Amino acid sequence: MRKNIVAGNWKMNNDLAETEELLSHLKMQMVKEPEAEVMVAPAFTNLYSTFKALKDTPVKVAAQNMHQAKSGAYTGEVSASMLKSIGVNTVILGHSERRAHFQETSEILAEKVNAALENEMEVIFCFGEELEDRKSDKHFDVVAKQLQESLYQISEDAWSKIILAYEPVWAIGTGETASPEQAQEMHAFVRKNIADKYNQQIADEVSILYGGSVKPANAKEIFAKEDVDGGLIGGASLKAVDFMAIVNSF
Ligand code: PGA
Repeated sequence: MRKNIVAGNWKMNNDLAETEELLSHLKMQMVKEPEAEVMVAPAFTNLYSTFKALKDTPVKVAAQNMHQAKSGAYTGEVSASMLKSIGVNTVILGHSERRAHFQETSEILAEKVNAALENEMEVIFCFGEELEDRKSDKHFDVVAKQLQESLYQISEDAWSKIILAYEPVWAIGTGETASPEQAQEMHAFVRKNIADKYNQQIADEVSILYGGSVKPANAKEIFAKEDVDGGLIGGASLKAVDFMAIVNSF
């Protein structure tokens, strides 16, 4: 009943020409009815051209970030309504790189989640522990806290707009993947946490993606796990063949 989703996080890669090339390869590789909902998240400068290029395809376009304020004196920032005005209705929030390099605290993230929902945007909310947390067996507590502090203020109805992405920081861009069992264990924990805080139906219906060094070679095994509903893909989403191989891994 919940959706399988594969989203490509292109991060700060590709200028306009490179983006157009990637998009044309993506369109060539794209099957008519993919097994999963497919999304790509280009940099801000390439969002509108990507939206236009993918208009007649099933691929959705997401932003990698947004500011929580409606408008005003926030030099360098982009608001939810600006994204919506170019056809972008999905935003990635809470990525560990935003948390680590741009000081996005749980409090700021809660504001961003609320701002996105107020604008009826869909949110891919990322969370995950660092290596230290896992080594000291604190990973469940860390994740529970991240969800509690940035997400559990939302209403029951708002959950239809939420996609979760468990991304253990130690697995991002490192080539090291959480084992399918580690991913399953955390996803099941998250679902139970949501069921306890909200209800079983919300927990059963929310898609939980895994992210961190997903590749064509390991996607099938990870996606086969009961509580893993797809992936948020960094590095491997920059090559259309690899990305589509991952999309076709269900
Ligand atoms: P990766 O990145 O696939 O390159 O590890 C995942 C992410 O940061 O979303």
